[in-house]
Amino acid sequence: MKFDIVSRGDHRSNNIKATMKQYLTDFDLEYSEEEPDLVISIGGDGTFLEAFHRYMHRLSETAFIGVHTGHLGFYADWMLDEVEKLIIEIAKTPFQVVEYPILEVIIRSKTGGEEDRYLALNEATIKTAEGSVVFDVEIKGEHFETFRGDGLCISTPSGSTAYNKALGGAILHPSIEAVQITEMASINNRVFRTIGSPMILPKHHTCVLRPIVDRSFLLAIDHFTETYTNVKSIQCRVAKEKIRFARFRPFPFWNRVRDSFVREGDRTRMDD
Ligand code: NAP
Ligand code: MN
Repeated sequence: MKFDIVSRGDHRSNNIKATMKQYLTDFDLEYSEEEPDLVISIGGDGTFLEAFHRYMHRLSETAFIGVHTGHLGFYADWMLDEVEKLIIEIAKTPFQVVEYPILEVIIRSKTGGEEDRYLALNEATIKTAEGSVVFDVEIKGEHFETFRGDGLCISTPSGSTAYNKALGGAILHPSIEAVQITEMASINNRVFRTIGSPMILPKHHTCVLRPIVDRSFLLAIDHFTETYTNVKSIQCRVAKEKIRFARFRPFPFWNRVRDSFVREGDRTRMDD
């Protein structure tokens, strides 16, 4: 089996990377940055997002696992004191795989040319640096509303605990293949009216945003942002690809939610 390790780059994460790399190669596993079967992210959830984007082109071959060197993470859910156990588990391969849905975003330009396609593990947000965004929101090919406000966030189930949560969105279990749309400060008056509630779209229900006013848009995909001008449409839906997590022990989603947001102090496990 081939593996790669992506470190946040701080001293502690780099040390753990060096240790894991040494042990795993001693166990006859091969270090490969080109074609890893397993990618180990060491740092925080941000590091995990980076690892995901680095290997986005081979999601069907690569599985991911995250070790956190800060506080408990959602993707980085192995703790430092478990690293030894994790190394042994990895060396024993094969491992179980758990798949989570991700988001596909396609940007089409008014000037034609090729479309841009992105995959997001957490979410896509569409905002502007110049005032508010104004676009028609279409769901499943039908006009739904005309949105005016700071922007929209379209999140995955596993991203529902990130930006989406701060916007009042629901936390969605990742076994549900869906995307969630949440509003950022929509303007509601006699002219503009939006639904106001977060909406959850099932697989195959595509949401298309069509800008009405010509502005430049800030499209954020997970941890990076692109600026777009002359946008004809922004299409969002559940991607056909999925992220695959290497699973070496159970740590159910709701336990991670509880331990991150509700329970103080040490992490303990609930029985499934
Ligand atoms: P960051 O500013 O470090 O991220 C903000 C926080 O979100 C960090 O504590 C990060 O954990 C955490 N996080 C990331 N993914 C998560 C998830 N799926 N569930 C729960 N928490 C999560 O920037 P970053 O590390 O590059 O992460 C980018 C993400 O930040 C975006 O995808 C977006 O979801 C989030 N964000 C949130 C807000 C907000 O809540 N108002 C605003 C902008 C962006 P780590 O510290 O372990 O990295
Ligand atoms: Mn971060």
